[in-house]
Amino acid sequence: MHVSDIKRFLRCPRLYQLSLETKMEFHLYFNISTDIDVSIAKKLNIEEYYVGITNQESSDTLLVANSYNWIFKARFSYNGLRIRVPLLYINEGHCNVYSILLSTQALENEGNNMAYTKYVLEGNGLIIDNYYIIFLNKDYTYKDKLDDKKLWIITDCFIKNDKKMGNIKEYVDSISLDLDDVLYQMDKYEFALPIRTNKCTGRNRCPFFDDCFPLDKIIDDNSILTLVSSKYKYEMLEDGIKYLKDADLKRVEGNKVQMAQIKADQSGGLYVDKEKLKTWLNQLEFPISFLDFEWDLFPIPPYNDMKVMDVLLFQYSLHVYDGKNLSHYECIGEGDSREEIAMSLLKNIPKKGSVLAYNAAGAEKIRIKELANYFPQYNYELLKINERLVDMATPFITGLVYDTRMRGSFTLNTIENMIDNKHSYDDLEVSDGMKAVKIHREMTNCQDEKQKQIYKKQLLEYCGLDTYSLYKIFKWLKMILSDQNDR
Ligand code: SF4
Repeated sequence: MHVSDIKRFLRCPRLYQLSLETKMEFHLYFNISTDIDVSIAKKLNIEEYYVGITNQESSDTLLVANSYNWIFKARFSYNGLRIRVPLLYINEGHCNVYSILLSTQALENEGNNMAYTKYVLEGNGLIIDNYYIIFLNKDYTYKDKLDDKKLWIITDCFIKNDKKMGNIKEYVDSISLDLDDVLYQMDKYEFALPIRTNKCTGRNRCPFFDDCFPLDKIIDDNSILTLVSSKYKYEMLEDGIKYLKDADLKRVEGNKVQMAQIKADQSGGLYVDKEKLKTWLNQLEFPISFLDFEWDLFPIPPYNDMKVMDVLLFQYSLHVYDGKNLSHYECIGEGDSREEIAMSLLKNIPKKGSVLAYNAAGAEKIRIKELANYFPQYNYELLKINERLVDMATPFITGLVYDTRMRGSFTLNTIENMIDNKHSYDDLEVSDGMKAVKIHREMTNCQDEKQKQIYKKQLLEYCGLDTYSLYKIFKWLKMILSDQNDR
């Protein structure tokens, strides 16, 4: 039993059970190209250390402690609970506990994890003298080689937004864990029914939501359950209100998207705010560029001028429509391909006209600004692109257009699949952004040239479909507006 199991059990017993039965696909959100243990050892001037191995017992770790004071990934267990301490300093029955966080803050949340560590280490007869968190220095910038001393910050206090909060040891010592009772309950639990609570759909949507509540997947396109940001949709369903068109307006918060959803169902499936959509489309100037980027996230910067938690662009796709013809340009790189991508983009993107991207403000606009900062020589031209950038998501997320086939989803994939179900993302090997990142990492590390080309082709297909989808959505919006005008 691991701490993560207890956390799952405390969130929901069924979640714990299902996670035991299911092999969950683990995908590392971060690209970690640095040996963190080596880097921390340099930071703390540790010359000799031991790195624990999987399934090691407490007795093995304690034996190792006779020869080494510093142990990375120190494994212990007590009362059926297994832990892995990121770094332990141990000397004659006393120890210091170090958490290592790929984060630019040292939050109290980690103190809660340390309470489990305390339970197990004290169960093994160790005395904990102090607790530390080692986390990333947000002001660090990579220059020529990694400076481990400047990269990490070590603290015995929690740090939030640069401010020192409480002492970690005092916090951990103040937590009383009744783990014996929880472990007993976990042992006894046999079957848990799905019960919908805010733990199912809260900040982190439960990975088993679709298993527990399959009805949400098979509901009609115009079901009341597709109403977005609605507190009362389940209550309305229980009261016999099945469809958006019958929503009880007293129990609808009334934001623009919700009203567009209800009006769409009342008008046979599609709602268009004709005047506002016309204004939005009229602002677009030809030639129109449809742009999409792919990137990876590096908590520890690997290349010059990158800060901690910076992203690295590795691909773009660009479709250009001049009103008659559609042309396509693309570039994909390996390693530090920032300049290659910036130069290729500047070569291919028209110097005038609108540039459309989906969720542009939160993605493409920021990526272009980052490129401009990395390469002052291209700064002017790159920032000119941003001045012409228009967010393709706007008509949908502001309630100018809603089609009940969107089923309350506003992603590019959903809208693409809705307007053209012949060319679906589901038909591609790479069907979403996270898979693209995974395949790009595999492509970068691949030694087999044939396989590398296969990965490359998959990535080009995926990113290319993104921008082709933007073009199709643009044409669709024009079409529905002209249909409305004909009425
Ligand atoms: S969806 Fe809800 S009930 Fe189902 S496992 Fe997750 S948290 Fe538990």
